[in-house]
Order: sequence, then C-alpha cells, then structure tokens
Amino acid sequence: MRVTLWGTRGSLATPGPETVRYGGNTSCVEVCGADGTRLVLDAGTGIRRLGGTIGHEERVDLLLSHLHMDHIQGLGFFRPLDEPDQEVHIWGPPSTTLDLRARLGRYLSPPLFPIRLRDLPCRLTLHDVPLDGFEIGALRITVALVCHPGPTVGYRISEGGVSVAYLPDHEPALGARQFPDGPEWISGYDLAEGADLLIHDSQFSSAEYAQRVGWGHSAITHALQFAARAGVKRLVTFHHDPAHDDATLDRLIEEARGGERLPFDLVPGTEGARFELGA
Ligand SMILES: [Zn+2]
Ligand SMILES: [Zn+2]
Repeated sequence: MRVTLWGTRGSLATPGPETVRYGGNTSCVEVCGADGTRLVLDAGTGIRRLGGTIGHEERVDLLLSHLHMDHIQGLGFFRPLDEPDQEVHIWGPPSTTLDLRARLGRYLSPPLFPIRLRDLPCRLTLHDVPLDGFEIGALRITVALVCHPGPTVGYRISEGGVSVAYLPDHEPALGARQFPDGPEWISGYDLAEGADLLIHDSQFSSAEYAQRVGWGHSAITHALQFAARAGVKRLVTFHHDPAHDDATLDRLIEEARGGERLPFDLVPGTEGARFELGA
C-alpha cells in the first residue's frame, strides 16, 4: 500500500514562502493498493494536483471525512469530475438532515461556484458511507463516527495485514480533564489500534488548545497520546494550523515530543511525503 500526502494544512489553504516545507494545501491523501485500487481521502485544495496524475479511464473513489469547507474546497478543481464518462464515486458521512448530494450542492452551485453538481459531466455516484465498513478493490475500509462538530468519520484502510488510519479532524480529549485512558473512552480508538500509519489531527499547541476546547481539534500532545494508547507504528502529524509556519511547526512538534523516546515513529506531516506500507 502506498500513501501520499497531497495536502496537510487545516482550516484554510496557507501558501507562502514560510509554509513551503509543510505545505499550504488543505487535506487530501491518496491511498493506492497493490492491485492498483486508488482511494482519495478528502477533497481539500491538495486534490487539484492529484487530479492531474489520475488516468482518464480509471475509476476514482473519493472518501470524505466530513463536509467542512477545507475538506471539499478542491472538488470543483478535481479533473476527473470534469471528464465525460469517467466513473467517480464520492462517499461521505450520513446526516439526519440532508443527503450528501444536497449538502455538497450547497458549495457546488451559484453563488459559491459557477457549476452545479448535477451538471458535472463525469459518471458520478454519491454514497452515504456504510458505518459497518465496505470494500473497494482489495482495500478493506473501516469507518467510525469521531468527535468533531457535525457528522464526521475517520477511516482505516487495510490490505494484506497492513493498515493506515486517517483522522484529520478529531478531538479525542474533549470533555476529559486528562487524556482518556481506557480504549472504550477514546474516540477513534478502534480505527487506529495497531495501525502501521496513523494520520492524525495535530492542529494546536497545548496553550492554543486550552483556548479552543470544543472546536473539534487536537493539541499535538493529544495526537502523541492517542498514537501511544492505540499502539500505532508511525504517527504523521496533520491538519496544521494556518498560523503555524514551518519554523513554528518544527518547534511545536519537538516541544510535544519533549525529548522522550516515543513508542512509535513520529513523522511531521509534509505535503508530498509518501509512505510505502507492507511488501
Ligand atoms: Zn478540517
Ligand atoms: Zn472540520
């Protein structure tokens, strides 16, 4: 399995010379299985460049964690959607109020966007993501609702004994004085347990988090605690705050590590990074 980070920024695209290393594009991750199955996780602004690498005949499956703007803003610029007859499936969390088409249509319609969702030329199918899991090609996808404002899911994608967990927007410490201990009290735990790679919300410094409890995000230290509790092999920090430039992120991640030996590899999430899992 190959995992590529096309956008690692949270909340708002943040291009500029001071964010060039971690990257300015918002959430988008590509997962490719050994059989060639390709999944796209979230449609932040990073999806535009990814679109240029996808074959015209290829089926595309786009899995949305939720519908906050930073996770769908790239949709209107994703080339496969513009391709007559290209087969595209968009999967998103179910909602009790409006279906996925109506919710995505709020963005993909005037005045926010000149083209309507229904006028896209591709062969588009929208799906409520099955919360009991599903398969695409040889990839097994596990889904769970996680702690974040509005219907939001995390994903675990497995193939032949290797797995990646994707929790870009997640506040597992919400409502707890200390980071929760027992697995049954940790949002998202089952998705991440024992994963080879965990891509996790790391938006805030600890001081910032104290001012932003309930916003749906993690302090970097929470991502480290979550990774340690879940027993993952590698943690990729993700969904960096727009206010954190490259130098600040280097410093905050080192502070969160605190000079300690961690029970997993800590990899600061940088745009363009690629991970090969398994044989
Ligand atoms: Zn987000
Ligand atoms: Zn969000």
